[in-house]
Amino acid sequence: MNERFEVIVVGGGMVGAAVACALGHGGVRVALLDKAEPARQWPPVPLDIRVSALTRASRLMLEQLGAWPGMARRDVSAYREMRVFDARGGGELHFDCADTEYNELGHIVENRVTVAALWDVLSTLDSVVCITPAKVAEMETDAEGVRLRLDNGQIFAADLVIAADGHDSALRALAGIGVTGWDYGQHGLVATVSTELSHRATAWQRFLDEGPLAFLPLANGQCSIVWTLRSDTAKVYLALSDADFLAVLEQASAGLLGDMLAVGPRAAFPLRFQYANGYTAEHLALVGDAAHVMHPLAGQGANAGLLDAAAIAEIILETRREQRSLAGCSLLRRYERWRKGDNLIMMGSMDVLNRTFGIQSAELTGLRSAGMRVINHTELLKSYFNRYAMGLRDDLPSLAKGKPCW
Ligand SMILES: Cc1cc2nc3c(=O)[nH]c(=O)nc-3n(C[C@H](O)[C@H](O)[C@H](O)COP(=O)(O)OP(=O)(O)OC[C@H]3O[C@@H](n4cnc5c(N)ncnc54)[C@H](O)[C@@H]3O)c2cc1C
Repeated sequence: MNERFEVIVVGGGMVGAAVACALGHGGVRVALLDKAEPARQWPPVPLDIRVSALTRASRLMLEQLGAWPGMARRDVSAYREMRVFDARGGGELHFDCADTEYNELGHIVENRVTVAALWDVLSTLDSVVCITPAKVAEMETDAEGVRLRLDNGQIFAADLVIAADGHDSALRALAGIGVTGWDYGQHGLVATVSTELSHRATAWQRFLDEGPLAFLPLANGQCSIVWTLRSDTAKVYLALSDADFLAVLEQASAGLLGDMLAVGPRAAFPLRFQYANGYTAEHLALVGDAAHVMHPLAGQGANAGLLDAAAIAEIILETRREQRSLAGCSLLRRYERWRKGDNLIMMGSMDVLNRTFGIQSAELTGLRSAGMRVINHTELLKSYFNRYAMGLRDDLPSLAKGKPCW
């Protein structure tokens, strides 16, 4: 087959599927390629250990794309409060949706739920073709656009390629875009746990010497934990028996949710700071983890990727409405200007937070806790952080403001 599309999206995770959905709603002829088709249904237990805290802006976007009902049907867990504790310095922050005009601060959602609901929508869009399994082996560009050759010999051509193929993006490497970054020497240990006390629809986070331990509330009463640990500690904790793991977790949580009663399967992911040196190359744009990987301590990676998706879709649809070529480079320059600075600020903030809480000097600990107290008692500052955490800002793409871009 040698087919031509207006846009090819490579990678159908949360971010790539969102781009394809937005473009499909706008009638753009899109091919979405992924090396595997995602699951659309699964048994009710166990829950997937990969979850994301999605902001209000992400929810508004997923509603516009038509994916939210499919997510709600599979289960999303609203959280109404957030409590952050500095274990060493004693500082505390408390955010409550009651201080906002909304009924929740955000939602905890299994990653597979978001992906499945987006793929449900894709299957209803006439101008979108999903092709799996599809692994890109070669990429060629010329003035007309891009040609991708898959490892099975199939060739697809398009005016523009969107690379949404994750942190080790093959497309990024094929386009010759390098990355800058470092390994944190930390892993994020994730698992689902049952606790003695109710989570009270609150996201709890306790900053410990090795990194934050987060309890994210799930609709079934359990919590999803994301525990940042030094890589060697994570390895040891993965190897513990369930009973021993629950004992260390209980000690680390300092009674926040009472006794730790049960834990499901555990996994740990290496944490890194990484950004692509450029977000674009000839006829190609990077979105999501292909463009940036940030520390998960504030749960912003997927949210930032969804904003990339909304921004590139908005620019493509506008270019098309103005009957300008999608193969031109002004579209790509505009996308990079819009998203790169924003993402770097977010990544930098996560990095500074991770380092600040990692320093154990008495002076800094005191300063840190004093800072937390000031934020907690200053309405204006608190409201600023609240809105930032909910992803509500003025410069958002239309979809993230709850408006269609097609
Ligand atoms: C421990 C942890 C906790 C996190 N918590 C949060 C959170 O609470 N909130 C939040 O917003 N973010 C969170 N994140 C970050 C979030 O998980 C990622 O930012 C997000 O999953 C990235 O989505 P993506 O679609 O860009 O990439 P991916 O999810 O990696 O998807 C890439 C897709 O591309 C496909 N693919 C890969 N290579 C190829 C290829 N060569 N050819 C074809 N297809 C290919 C894959 O099959 C996959 O479908 C967390 C991350 C970690 C590690």
